[in-house]
Amino acid sequence: MKKLFTFLLLSVLTIACQQNETDTKTEIISVSESQAEVPDMLPLVENKPIKNIIFLIGDGTGLAQISTGQYAMVGPDGMLHMQTMPVTGFVKTHSSDNLITDSASGATAYSCGLKTYNGAIGVNPSVTPCKTILELAEEKGLSTGLVSTSSITHATPASYAAHVEQRSMQEEIAVDFLDSGVEVFLGGGVKWFSPDERSDSLDVMAQFEAAGYQVLLNENDLQDTSSDRLLGLFAEDGMERVEGEPSSAAMTQKALDVLSKNEEGFFLMVEGSQIDWAGHGNNTEYLIREVEDFDLAVKTALDFAQQDGETLVVLTADHETGGMTMLRQADTGDSLEVYWVTDYHTGIPVPLMAYGPQALEFMGWRDNTYIGQKLAELLGVGELPILMEK
Ligand SMILES: [Zn+2]
Repeated sequence: MKKLFTFLLLSVLTIACQQNETDTKTEIISVSESQAEVPDMLPLVENKPIKNIIFLIGDGTGLAQISTGQYAMVGPDGMLHMQTMPVTGFVKTHSSDNLITDSASGATAYSCGLKTYNGAIGVNPSVTPCKTILELAEEKGLSTGLVSTSSITHATPASYAAHVEQRSMQEEIAVDFLDSGVEVFLGGGVKWFSPDERSDSLDVMAQFEAAGYQVLLNENDLQDTSSDRLLGLFAEDGMERVEGEPSSAAMTQKALDVLSKNEEGFFLMVEGSQIDWAGHGNNTEYLIREVEDFDLAVKTALDFAQQDGETLVVLTADHETGGMTMLRQADTGDSLEVYWVTDYHTGIPVPLMAYGPQALEFMGWRDNTYIGQKLAELLGVGELPILMEK
């Protein structure tokens, strides 16, 4: 009897382990032995009113994503640029209909300052459009910009300048962008604007040109332009990281060059979109490349803010992706075993960081809706949330 019990117990354990095995993934990455100079922690600055906001969203970027990127790039003693931001906190990310948010409701919490359902783009739970911080900024005469490494019509940037029922409606989102007033769109997604690929055959790109935008299709176009209305579409859909595509840092720099000409101020959102995609793929090498690309955009933003003195920089994520953890030092010595729990998002709170005047408003545990509301208040453009006519 005892033997039978032991056999059954072992069988159950074996099945449990096997299931565990198929549901999870372990990867080993090399830890950098870099002796590179560690950047200094940025100081707290005088708490005066702000003129500009740069809001950085690392899609799917939790603590393990940042720290793994740090270990791989600059080693355990090093620091990424995003880690030099002096004020830190946490963000609770649940949506109105799910404890685990998606990027659409996550971004709408930041853009409109309200909770909505997964999949919603700039609308509340009853599908009523909600005004975004970017639209408020445009009404007040500020300049605005969206930078992303996904298609620019993807959930996160879309939630700032479009209002549709579902995130998959990327053709409608491209049309919505037309009368948003946004000065700078930089990302991927030619297919959502060009008549050959759209189901409605609308030439949205031509409509953008007619509205005074210069369309940019590669890194050279981006460097050469002197236009102050830009539609940069550097890939068919998401950026592919091929020759001729600009980095996130290059896009961020161009956006800042254009937007900072406005004396009234600006709001710029920059998304590291594919950190999330690496998480969905449980692909640690991909993750590290994307964290590096995003961190250089963060450096560009922080350099600008330090020079400018009236710019608040806030960095967070919409949610964590992959349930990623740093499991153990691998047997091979200077390497780290990374463990992924899921190929979807998790509900674990995400880190929040801030630098510049008013940065202390972003200390502590915050709800994602607070971030959008507080940013609008600090920029002086109005009080979120605001519902619009259907
Ligand atoms: Zn995702």
